[in-house]
Amino acid sequence: MPDAAGGDEMKQAKEIEDAEKFNFMATVTKAPKKQIQFADDMQEFTKFPTKSGRRSLSRSISQSSTDSYSSAASYTDSSDDEEGTPREKHQTNSKGSSNFCVKNIKQAEFGRREIEIAEQDMSALISLRKRAQGEKPLAGAKIVGCTHITAQTAVLIETLCALGAQCRWSACNIYSTQNEVAAALAEAGVAVFSWKGESEDDFWWCIDRCVNMDGWQPNMILDDGGDLTHWVYKKYPNVFKKIRGIVEESVTGVHRLYQLSKAGKLCVPAMNVNDSVTKQKFDNLYCCRESILDGLKRTTDVMFGGKQVVVCGYGEVGKGCCAALKALGAIVYITEIDPICALQACMDGFRVVKLNEVIRQMDVVITCTGNKNVVTREHLDRMKNSCIVCNMGHSNTEIDVTSLRTPELTWERVRSQVDHIIWPDGKRVVLLAEGRLLNLSCSTVPTFVLSITATTQALALIELYNAPEGRYKQDVYLLPKKMDEYVASLHLPSFDAHLTELTDDQAKYMGLNKNGPFKPNYYRY
Ligand code: NAD
Repeated sequence: MPDAAGGDEMKQAKEIEDAEKFNFMATVTKAPKKQIQFADDMQEFTKFPTKSGRRSLSRSISQSSTDSYSSAASYTDSSDDEEGTPREKHQTNSKGSSNFCVKNIKQAEFGRREIEIAEQDMSALISLRKRAQGEKPLAGAKIVGCTHITAQTAVLIETLCALGAQCRWSACNIYSTQNEVAAALAEAGVAVFSWKGESEDDFWWCIDRCVNMDGWQPNMILDDGGDLTHWVYKKYPNVFKKIRGIVEESVTGVHRLYQLSKAGKLCVPAMNVNDSVTKQKFDNLYCCRESILDGLKRTTDVMFGGKQVVVCGYGEVGKGCCAALKALGAIVYITEIDPICALQACMDGFRVVKLNEVIRQMDVVITCTGNKNVVTREHLDRMKNSCIVCNMGHSNTEIDVTSLRTPELTWERVRSQVDHIIWPDGKRVVLLAEGRLLNLSCSTVPTFVLSITATTQALALIELYNAPEGRYKQDVYLLPKKMDEYVASLHLPSFDAHLTELTDDQAKYMGLNKNGPFKPNYYRY
């Protein structure tokens, strides 16, 4: 998914391969004060689009923040019954604290149940908590966070607290907060400022409340989308004197960090969590394998056995989608520009075709290329009646939806996220989510996928917070491979999977350390 982050910057990212064997239980070595460079020109960050422009949500997940998949839907809307903005309400939790601003603190009990359900599929974080008992690798860490506020993120936040951190949190999206979860966090003592349906002004107010507090200054940033980092750069640059590092989750945010770094304006080390191997594989391949059918089924109720489906792009996302559709008995065709991926598709038993050749007989067309204008008006004109068209790629440019907004075509909204586009002869094409990411618009993301991301975020924070001086400079880094492996290993017990250990002899023969890393940087999983 890191299409936007750009390959060049990625290649330049410095992976600390010689990092010590990761051991968060080890004595915490506080990183000495970093040398701070202040960015006097905030141009990079001021290019950010406005909240309203960037954060239009279809169901529960930001369209534009499609690069960050780490939150699922809000399960309840009942919380929205209460009138008035939370900013005007005085609320206290059961311990008398009012250091938060949520929709309705009374929903805390319900939110706690949601968090407990999420914990079931996030055992890696729970085991991190257990392993850190006694040792507090984040003792003294003051983390200001800006992510989706969902049950899954709550498990992350509470893990960070269990590891010794103090946290202040706001939402990275005006719609994605689960109000009951925010209430549960507030009840548990987390300073959370967020509710579903914030205005643009509320959004920045909430971020500001997290950063700007007498007697409390953050020393770590966990961001998803770059808005929090942007705010600190713009309003409180002095805060960076104390910041030990930024952990960024999204393509967009990572891209901005690379821009800052290139311009020499990044004043602290930053960790690009988005491009870690485990996150990539789970977000792109496995998550799409799980969620493509969910999105299609919820919107169309169509049976896929025997249906003719063309999937454009046989990268990670395409492979996931094809595997799921094939398993349902669909007849799957692939389009590809890259001979290697095309050959892979052939080996996996798919016909590789040009879209033009098959478009007339397709029942479903799915784009997963990260490219633009893959499905053109000409293709759409030639589709048969009831053909379903949708996109699983990052942006809504893969299907030329704009070309459908012409006077001779009628748009009929038949369900949420489902439009029938009607041609003058009565032909209907079924367009899902207006060409935006189908799974993020119309289904949920499995908690287990979010667990991988959350664990990676937690480890990145621990690493940056505890890194000895000199390990990280004012640059953007990928997570050391050992930690990627560690994230994976924390998830293995969920499957009762047992790793084979190298013998001394084997390790010597392979030239490996018995504790990893087990693969070189260039290895393609
Ligand atoms: P990828 O680079 O591995 O795969 C994309 C494939 O599309 C490549 O093999 C490329 O050769 C092919 N391609 C490019 N232009 C094409 C064209 N005109 N016709 C046919 N094939 C073409 O990338 P990926 O990891 O599979 O991600 C694909 C897109 O999905 C990206 O935009 C990514 O951000 C997004 N993504 C979506 C989700 C999700 O949950 N829906 C998750 C992760 C990533």
